[in-house]
Amino acid sequence: MKCFMYSIEWQKRGLPHVHLLLWLMEKLRPNQIDGIISADIPNLETDRKLYDTVTKNMIHGPCGALNPSSPCMKEGKCTKKYPRGLLKDTKTNDKGYPLYTRRAPEDGGHTLAQKTRSGIEKILVDNSWIVPYSSLLSKIFNCHINVEFCNTVKTIKYICKYINKGSDQAILNIRQQGNVNIDPRDEVQTFRAGRYVSSNESAWRILGLPLHERHPTLIHLAVHLPNGERIYFTENNLRERMATPT
Ligand SMILES: [Zn+2]
Repeated sequence: MKCFMYSIEWQKRGLPHVHLLLWLMEKLRPNQIDGIISADIPNLETDRKLYDTVTKNMIHGPCGALNPSSPCMKEGKCTKKYPRGLLKDTKTNDKGYPLYTRRAPEDGGHTLAQKTRSGIEKILVDNSWIVPYSSLLSKIFNCHINVEFCNTVKTIKYICKYINKGSDQAILNIRQQGNVNIDPRDEVQTFRAGRYVSSNESAWRILGLPLHERHPTLIHLAVHLPNGERIYFTENNLRERMATPT
């Protein structure tokens, strides 16, 4: 591996998850993607362990008409673009992530019947609902690990933004018991902004566990116009700096 960069984020309910970007020593060629990333339901007969992990952790939603109140739904559409189109062969494109092979049932793709969130009716899940994963990582960790091939500036930028976006913010107000009336003209009361930190995140921070890391270390080099560099004055260098300003 050439370098890496990760950042840890918390969901509103407090579950930590990592966004990790790895730069490989050797670039992944399009014909190698299928060997590393899959978006197909594994074969129950030949790989029970992987089948269990994927069907438990890597099925999106279901959302859409099957479950319009899913958190991913906005204006009647799934913001994560599920269900994805079924596809015989992986296709790379220069805009976003590749479109991975998702075999249709007629092409040998597996399906499974899954209960909806209400738990009453069962729906048929095919490969269009599978979140891309790596067989190796899913088998080792037995949890939700979405793996994507990031070969475009757009996808790399998307992951890198997590490092710099900072923590979640919330607007809050403090009320005295019984006093529910807040003067809408009191901007301090109305727009008191704070950082949203869940109890799990607080514990993580108190214990001093890592929040993000990158390797190799990057050093920010100062760029300035000729004679435009910063000068710091201290008691010790004051006279010298004044005598020779350049
Ligand atoms: Zn969705």
